[in-house]
Amino acid sequence: MKATNIQQIISNDLVGSTILVKAWVRTHRQGKSVSFISLNDGSTINNIQVVAEGDFSEELLNRVTTGACIAVTGEVVESQGQGQKVEIKAQGIEILGDCDADAYPIQPKKHSMEFLREKAHLRFRTNTFGAIFRIRHQLTFAVHQFFHEKGFYNIHTPIITASDAEGAGETFKVTNLDLNNVPKKEDGSVDYDQDFFAKEANLTVSGQLEGELAAMALGKIYTFGPTFRAENSNTTRHLAEFWMIEPEVAFADLDDNMDLAEEMLRHLCSDILKNCADDLAFLNQRLINEDKSKKAADRQTMTLIEKLQFVADNPFKRLTYTEAIDILRNSKPNKKKKFKYIIDGWGADLQSEHERYLVEKEFNCPVILTDYPKDIKAFYMKMGEDGKTVRAMDILFPGIGEIIGGAQREEDYDKLVKRMEEMDVPKEDLWWYLETRKFGTAPHSGFGLGFERMVLFVTGMQNIRDVIPFPRTPQNAEF
Ligand code: ATP
Ligand code: MN
Repeated sequence: MKATNIQQIISNDLVGSTILVKAWVRTHRQGKSVSFISLNDGSTINNIQVVAEGDFSEELLNRVTTGACIAVTGEVVESQGQGQKVEIKAQGIEILGDCDADAYPIQPKKHSMEFLREKAHLRFRTNTFGAIFRIRHQLTFAVHQFFHEKGFYNIHTPIITASDAEGAGETFKVTNLDLNNVPKKEDGSVDYDQDFFAKEANLTVSGQLEGELAAMALGKIYTFGPTFRAENSNTTRHLAEFWMIEPEVAFADLDDNMDLAEEMLRHLCSDILKNCADDLAFLNQRLINEDKSKKAADRQTMTLIEKLQFVADNPFKRLTYTEAIDILRNSKPNKKKKFKYIIDGWGADLQSEHERYLVEKEFNCPVILTDYPKDIKAFYMKMGEDGKTVRAMDILFPGIGEIIGGAQREEDYDKLVKRMEEMDVPKEDLWWYLETRKFGTAPHSGFGLGFERMVLFVTGMQNIRDVIPFPRTPQNAEF
């Protein structure tokens, strides 16, 4: 017999049929003459109850412990108890994998997120992480579907590169040199000629520059790949390895870029509302329960589901950096020196406390900030007419801060070269990038969405380490 998954059992009318289920035991209530076994196989957040009555040996039933993997054959029957429509009347039980009950860390009780991070190999088996990773999958799928339906092509940009897109220098080196015996040049510096690529190489910090090359022929492309940043920021929003979605669109200006980003984000929220209702209901309730132990002021003003619905239904607020600075300068926390970084003038980079003030206090909705000072943004962004700002846009989300960073790109060769010189970006390394500006250049725009930040928003989780299976952060690459 082929196994039926639990999702099918509870959503189809299989009452009366005999089925086989293979799953992990969540709980086992063992009575004198009847046993109730709750099973989960990952196909849904819902468990199926197995009722084992009759001639099952004591020895077998004792091995049906939390965490064990079993196969059950039985008849689907209408449930006698509350909380489920159907259950399985067991005819046969086979142990596929025993579980040492005393050593198994995932007990049917509440565990802290910190504890579960140390058990990342097993945390998939909790309701919370099951829900998160099913939603993460659906989001991945929805991203591809969104772009595919709009005629975008998915481009796989390199993971090993020799350029540092942002010029931030926060890269991981890729080398096969013997680190105990590094070849040196006469001046004492590392002789990369002897390295694998005969030049310095690193893990990519963004697929954008290569994405732009593809957009200058294919028109509309997007990348969806891993990104690496050796930034030592131990925050709840930064990972050393994360996934980024980067569309790049020929003939698009900054307004088109904002429209695309906003449409995508709103679409992703409604997709999850529609396709992940059970998991979302669980995470929604989880946050409501958490609120009960919080002070009134710290409680959420909208439930998770209300938040996603709100984003799906409402346009984002768009304003310029300059307008935002005015608002921030005159804001209460700025005047009362409650911000860690006080805003005293034009030109300052915005910190996450400022971004969140705008989103959560001033506008109460997602915000798109545009036209940032050129000095705090990357070299490839298109210069504004004022000569002071660039045509950048950041999208700011409640509880998260920046979720998207994007821009219209500088398509003019001379202006781009000038910016590279001003910002000390090595032109020789990026000769291929510059050539697109010589061979049929075109206005174009794009952005980067941090995928985990989106998963954070959609699941209502607090820490980015909990929305990627195996987080890489400073001093942590376990698993
Ligand atoms: P931040 O100011 O939050 O560090 P950034 O300005 O460095 O972000 P970009 O270089 O514009 O970010 O990258 C595009 C997007 O990638 C960001 O909007 C964010 O969603 C995501 N992102 C950036 N750095 C990280 C990181 N270390 N971990 C997870 N996501 C990140
Ligand atoms: Mn950063």
